[in-house]
Parts: sequence; structure tokens; C-alpha cells
Amino acid sequence: MIYREYGSTGKKISAVGFGGMRFEKPQDIDASAEMLVYALENGINYFDTATFYFKGKSEMIFGHALPELKKSGKDFYLSTKSMAKSPDELRLDLEKSLERMKTDFIDFYHVWCVLSPDDYAHRKAAGVIDEFKKLKEEGLVGNITISTHMKGSEIRRLLETEEYDGITLGYSAINFPFREEGLRAAAAKNMGVVIMNPLGGGAIADNPDEFSFIKMHKKQSIVDAALHFLLSDKSITTALVGFGNKSHIDDAVSAVNSFEPYTDAEVAALKLRIQDDFQSMCTTCGYCDVCPEKIPVWAFMESYNHLMMNSKYEAAERLKWHWGLKMDELDRCTSCGRCEDACTQHLPILERFELLKKNSAG
Ligand code: SF4
Ligand code: SF4
Repeated sequence: MIYREYGSTGKKISAVGFGGMRFEKPQDIDASAEMLVYALENGINYFDTATFYFKGKSEMIFGHALPELKKSGKDFYLSTKSMAKSPDELRLDLEKSLERMKTDFIDFYHVWCVLSPDDYAHRKAAGVIDEFKKLKEEGLVGNITISTHMKGSEIRRLLETEEYDGITLGYSAINFPFREEGLRAAAAKNMGVVIMNPLGGGAIADNPDEFSFIKMHKKQSIVDAALHFLLSDKSITTALVGFGNKSHIDDAVSAVNSFEPYTDAEVAALKLRIQDDFQSMCTTCGYCDVCPEKIPVWAFMESYNHLMMNSKYEAAERLKWHWGLKMDELDRCTSCGRCEDACTQHLPILERFELLKKNSAG
């Protein structure tokens, strides 16, 4: 296993982390908890969950695993999150997380799922961010971190004024242009950088043939290649993989153990290739952010990628859970065409809106 410094916290985190959102059998709490123990035995020491994963069951699985994890004597770190919109709600969320996880301390506590600068401003104005700081002062949480789906430029602007120990963001071989600016801004502040959705929300792993070109070395699997691409970026502390079963842990650990960094030239060539080869795919570059009706076009188009790639992830689910949007936002579209004119990939955006609507109507 490779370990990397998490920003300036002094903690060393495994280069792949345990994502607690994909348990195949969350109802089997013993077997699911055993997966955490297995992961720690195999060198993974960062365990990430959230209040809503499996309606709280994921945190309960973590709590169930905790005695065994402690028995190992190894260092490990717990991460969870709150989307609270008020200080009282935040206290309640933390209380419940601590109870479910059977602990009195969370190492990394996230301001969860910040979708836009407005969303952040509302939470801040309501006193939520100050309350996070109080939780740290009171010794209930170790590090305050932020998890966001904002664009790279929005993340950069937020980090100009806000202080966090680390950031968790979605980043992969198929969406890196969208957030790279934010990732660089976080790294410049020496923050820990945790990658969620390293496999593009399932799109990469589900479509190994389409993405085979991201393999640079012999014997790489598609999962190896997706992780090697990310780990070649020294700004990235860890990539969170949502583990369904023990074989997923084996795959991720083996990917780290066989890691040979891509050279800068390989990464640059790969990035170009990704953009060139995916002419018909939205790269989430965000240049279509010109809509007079304030429709977040890139979010709909990124969700369309999942439809196009036949990903297991439904486009409507992607919209709802990743972007916090509903399909009926598209009802505001006047077909003015400004987004299509601005699109770097010259994509038929309006046509794709229709296909998305048709698909979500079943
Ligand atoms: S075509 Fe629709 S989505 Fe695109 S800019 Fe015009 S109103 Fe916005
Ligand atoms: S629709 Fe076009 S401009 Fe908009 S994010 Fe996707 S590729 Fe970029």
C-alpha cells in the first residue's frame, strides 16, 4: 500500500480509501463490517461514510466494525458528513453519527455535498460553518473538510476565503476538466485531496472497451488504469472506491500495489486523447454556463454521458443524487441555442435534453 500525507494534518492516508456507499448486502451487517476489517488488514486506513448512505446503515456497519478495527492496533481514520442547514441540525446529525458509529470522535467531518456557491453561502449565513469549527474546538471532530460538486473555478474562489483541512471532490478520467482548477487550488493550500467517483460513477468500470485507451502499461485492468491515472497526480491524497464486496477491495489494493506512475508526458497525452476520443461525450468543461434561464447545462449533459455509456447509473438518479437537480428544470429551456454555440465539443445539447426527458419518463 502507498500512503500519502493528508495536507498539513500530519496524517498518512492510504492511496485508496474505503467508500461506504456501495455495500452489496448492507442488511448483512456482520459480513459488511468484516469488509472494513479486511480492508484494514490489506493496508486501507481511510474509511468514509455519510449519514444518508443506506439510510444510516452504512454508519452502523462502521460502528459494528469498530471494535475489531481497534483490536488490530493499526492506525485508521473515520470520515463522515453532514448536509445540515442549521447549527442545531448539525449537532443532531453528529450526535446520531457518533451513536451509529459507536465512537466519540470523527477524524474527518465534512460539510457535505455543497452544490453551488449559493448553497454554501446559505449554510454559512445560517451559522453552520462556525458550528463545524466549534465541534473541532470541543474535540468531537479532528479535521473539518468539505465535499463538493461545484465547478473547479467555483471551488477555487471559495478556497480563496475559506479554510479547510481537506476537500473531497468527484474527479476521474472522464470529468477532470470540470474540477481541475479546484483541485489545483486545494493542493496549493496544502489541503488533503480525496477523490470520489474515481471510476466516473461506474461509467469507466462498466465500459472497459471504450476506455481501454487509458491503459498505459501492460497487464493493467481498467480499474488499475483509472486509479493509476489519478495516483499519478501527486496532489491527490487518496481515491475513494465504493466497495461492494471483498473482491473489489482486492482489485483496488492490487491496483495500488502495481502502481507505476504515468509520466507527465503520458498524462498530458492521455488528457488530450480523452478529449479527442470523446468528441461525442460531455467533458464537463463548463463552457456552456451561459444559459439566460440559469439551467446548469453541464450537469444534464454529464448525466447524459451515463445514458450514452449504458452505465448502470441511471441518468435521472445521477441528476438527483450527484447534482441535486430534477428533470423538470429543463422546462425552462427556451431553445435559444446559446449553450450549443458555446459547447467546446459542439454537442447537440437540445437533442440530448429531449432524450434525457424521454428516458426519465420511462
Ligand atoms: S438552449 Fe435552453 S439550456 Fe441552452 S442556453 Fe438556451 S435556454 Fe439555456
Ligand atoms: S455540454 Fe459542452 S460545453 Fe457544456 S460541459 Fe459538456 S462539453 Fe463542456
